[in-house]
Amino acid sequence: MIDTKPDEIKQILKEQQTYFATQQTKNISFRLEQLKKLKDGVKKHEQDIVKALALDLNKSELEAYSTEIGILYEEINFTMKRLRNWAKPRKVSTALTHTGSRGYVIHEPYGAVLIIAPWNYPFQLALSPLVGAIAAGNTAVIKPSELTPNVSSLIKKILQEQYTSAYIATVEGGVAASQALLELPFDYIFFTGSVPVGKVVMEAAAKHLTPVTLELGGKSPTIVDEQVNIKLAAKRIVFGKFTNAGQTCIAPDYLLVQKKVKQELIDAMKEAINEFYGDNPLESSRYSKIVNDRHYSRLTRYLNDGRILFGGTRDDGTHRIAPTLLDQVDPNSPVMTEEIFGPIFPVMEYDTLDEAIEFVNSRPKPLALYLFTESKETEAEVTNRISFGGGCINDTLMHIATPYLPFGGVGESGMGSYHGKYSFETFSHAKSVLKQTTRFDFSFRYPSAKNGLKLVKRLLK
Ligand code: NAD
Repeated sequence: MIDTKPDEIKQILKEQQTYFATQQTKNISFRLEQLKKLKDGVKKHEQDIVKALALDLNKSELEAYSTEIGILYEEINFTMKRLRNWAKPRKVSTALTHTGSRGYVIHEPYGAVLIIAPWNYPFQLALSPLVGAIAAGNTAVIKPSELTPNVSSLIKKILQEQYTSAYIATVEGGVAASQALLELPFDYIFFTGSVPVGKVVMEAAAKHLTPVTLELGGKSPTIVDEQVNIKLAAKRIVFGKFTNAGQTCIAPDYLLVQKKVKQELIDAMKEAINEFYGDNPLESSRYSKIVNDRHYSRLTRYLNDGRILFGGTRDDGTHRIAPTLLDQVDPNSPVMTEEIFGPIFPVMEYDTLDEAIEFVNSRPKPLALYLFTESKETEAEVTNRISFGGGCINDTLMHIATPYLPFGGVGESGMGSYHGKYSFETFSHAKSVLKQTTRFDFSFRYPSAKNGLKLVKRLLK
């Protein structure tokens, strides 16, 4: 893929700044119209999107629709229905010290925003933040991932058909294009990707004091307690782990299972894998491939970090690795210290819940956490004592798919959140305005006031 040239990138930002200055992106009817255009563009190219995702990642049509296209429609519909309400200036209460005045908050757009996307859900993760950016009244530049070139060029085509690049533009390319973008004074940066690149983004943003949202990754644990519906847990864990062949930021990374139910859970997971992907997942049209050589060889090395309980087969030609369960892993081995981001699932057992909680807490704060239990006490212990971005009780992945919950990380797994109203707020600055009365004037605050200090002390005690 050819990197967009730095001069061209500079020109795009300049044009977007000029466009933003015309004020038209702030008009609510305009924003709604642009959201509708986004939906129309995606609808028009639905089959092309499915094809591009199959070419880049061998995604099945069901996965393409449920995790990339459908989820975007849901985000657009949800936002369009509520935008007028969200965008209204919000009145706030008045403090006693401010009697006579009124306060309100205006959500104003930042200006020209930059959205950098990864390759694993290359369509949705580029365009879902865009919904928030448009809803909040910004212009936007999208930098899709270079590792999924078919989706990248399709995004460019769809956006070009719907918008002038002075409003919404796509910059294609890899690290060089991304770095050229990061040198510029955007008004907001929304980055989805890995932890190391997240640090590069934040450092670059610091030069211009540009605010950032960082949607990063890491190792998301799945804890399975002894009081559990094993069959259902197994199905939902296998679903979350092997969707997109494990290349999901919130995929269960490793399993911590109470030792009494370990064998039963492993047997049930094997059954679920067979049910979902058949006897030979390497041939299944329902099973994704690994995105490229580098990630494929990185993942194959993990196969040596434990005893293979199930799976472990692979096809170098098609970059596929069968759903694999790994036992007897060393907590200090690469498969347990690096984000796996593939279809390999280390299984570790624990005796007491404390042990499991301490294990998770001894590591960076995860993006997601999944707990399978019927016990309310266990649920309370885990949700209170472990810090994580978001997660599910008795399910996996599904918390990302509802526009009512904020989605984002904490600590090393990221900062900020989005989806639904949270996206609108992420891409808006909350501007505070105090409107003072001119009908009267409290003079005790002025340096010349008699008894000023006494009054201030009485009011602010
Ligand atoms: P990545 O960090 O390698 O790349 C992300 C984007 O940054 C790409 O567009 C890429 O071109 C650009 N980039 C890469 N190196 C760069 C550099 N040195 N300087 C500037 N830009 C650079 O991530 P990836 O491999 O595309 O995606 C996988 C990672 O993303 C995983 O860690 C995963 O957990 C995370 N992820 C997080 C979420 C989330 O919502 N939190 C979603 C999907 C993926």
